[in-house]
Amino acid sequence: MPRILITGAAGFLGSHLCDRFLKEGYEVVGMDNLITGDLRNLEHLFKEKAFTFYHHDVTTFVHVSGPLDFILHFASPASPIDYLKIPIQTLKVGSLGTHNCLGLAKAKNARILVASTSEVYGDPTVHPQTEEYWGNVNPVGPRGVYDEAKRFQEAMTMAYHTYHGLQTRIIRIFNTYGPRMRLNDGRVLPAFIGQALRGEDLTVFGKGNQTRSFCYVDDLVEGIYRLLHSDYPYPVNIGNPDEITILQFAEEIIKLTGTKQKIIYKDLPKDDPTQRQPDITKARKILGWEPKVSRAEGLKITYAAFKALPQEVLYKQEHRDFEGYVRK
Ligand code: UDP
Repeated sequence: MPRILITGAAGFLGSHLCDRFLKEGYEVVGMDNLITGDLRNLEHLFKEKAFTFYHHDVTTFVHVSGPLDFILHFASPASPIDYLKIPIQTLKVGSLGTHNCLGLAKAKNARILVASTSEVYGDPTVHPQTEEYWGNVNPVGPRGVYDEAKRFQEAMTMAYHTYHGLQTRIIRIFNTYGPRMRLNDGRVLPAFIGQALRGEDLTVFGKGNQTRSFCYVDDLVEGIYRLLHSDYPYPVNIGNPDEITILQFAEEIIKLTGTKQKIIYKDLPKDDPTQRQPDITKARKILGWEPKVSRAEGLKITYAAFKALPQEVLYKQEHRDFEGYVRK
């Protein structure tokens, strides 16, 4: 039975990865400091003999007893409002946390896959974004703490690969959605669906002509599984190239939820990327991967999951209307 450590296990992506690797017959060690993760995402796994959980912050020395074959480093805040609320932790988990995970991988002779992001491209001047594009990042803007930590993470991971000969994989994840996203983390999809469920107007930032390309979580997990088992050490984009403006997206959510609320416009956050679409030629070629779930299908499943959440989660005033997010 191969043994895998998954950091950020209680988060949106981490918990789906725990499910997938358990299903594939792996022994899974989950780790999370629970700053943005939620144990409810893992509740159903605590009865599994092949699953253990460490409540630990990967920015401090990581000890896992016994052998490890694989590590997936997925611990990190991942919403622009989180970056503003916990900027230092965001920087630390991408940099020190990655260093600790790489050190652990080396000590255990494990293969490691690190979760990078389309944010390494910043506000891209090349469209769609290929892995060869170096990006357009503002290091001192509100997103800099995330973007630069992830860029450092990639550099550090490549250094362990070239200098130590470690088996490393780097995935650049584009906007992903699905059940278990934090409803009030400020990201656009949970924001819109939450607003529809609470009977509030949908808040489109700017004119809503900025674009994103949304990938359903099961497709992403399949891409991660394939990349981990490939022999390709350089970054690979995984995302759904089906690009849409945020205004069109709000209209889709209104149609999906049947809400009678309207769209209202708020200031555009600083450094908000104007366009984003993955070029997935590499993933197609190297991994034989492409997304299978359409936005219509994926949104239906996600809406059903959000609708089933308890009222206290729906009305939790976590990040809504967080001051300082908007462009001054
Ligand atoms: N957005 C919006 N209304 C919201 C939240 C986000 O219009 O209530 C916009 C945001 O300005 C950005 C896009 O939706 O252009 C995606 O934002 P998100 O925070 O989900 O992630 P990002 O892709 O910017 O990291």
